[in-house]
Amino acid sequence: MRHGSIPGASGRVRPLTLLGDPVLHAPCAEVTDFGPQLAALVEDMFATMYAARGVGLAANQVGVGLQVFVYDCPDDEDVRHLGHVVNPRVVDLDGVTVRGPEGCLSLPGLEAATPRFDHAVVEGVTVTGDPVRVHGTGFFARCLQHESDHVAGGVYTDHVTGWRKRRVLRQAARAPWATTA
Ligand SMILES: [Zn+2]
Repeated sequence: MRHGSIPGASGRVRPLTLLGDPVLHAPCAEVTDFGPQLAALVEDMFATMYAARGVGLAANQVGVGLQVFVYDCPDDEDVRHLGHVVNPRVVDLDGVTVRGPEGCLSLPGLEAATPRFDHAVVEGVTVTGDPVRVHGTGFFARCLQHESDHVAGGVYTDHVTGWRKRRVLRQAARAPWATTA
C-alpha cells in the first residue's frame, strides 16, 4: 500500500473461507516475514472486504493462516476507523458488556446478538513492522474483538449463548453455503 493510495485499490479480491473450513478454526501463525507478500496480502484483504461490504476481515478468512486483520469500521459516534494490524494482541478490554447484532463474512447472511466489551485496545505492528496501538469503543470495539478472535481461530458464535446460539448454529447448518452434511 503506497502512501496516499486508497487501501485495496491495487488489491485482488480473494475467495472467502466459510464456517467449517479448518483454516478458520485454527490459531493463525505469527508473521515474521515483512516483505512484499505481506503488503500484497493486506491490499487483497482490503479489496476483498470492500467487495463483500464488510467492516473487518482477518487473513484466515481468505485462507491465509497468518495473524493479520484489516478494518474500515465506524464506532457508535460515526467516527470512521481504517487500518490493519499484524500480530495483534488484545491488551485491554473493559467497560460494560453490550449484547449487539454481529455478523461475519464467513457466515454470510447470518446475524446474532453477541456480548462484547464496550472498550478494546489492540497492539501489534504494521506491514512495515512499525508498532501500532488501536483503541476502539462501541461498534468498533466489537470489530476489534471479532477480528482478534478470528486470528486466534475463533468465530463470533463462540460468544453467543442460549437460544440465540442454538438458532444461529441451526441457521448456519441450513445455509446454502454450509459445508457440513
Ligand atoms: Zn468474521
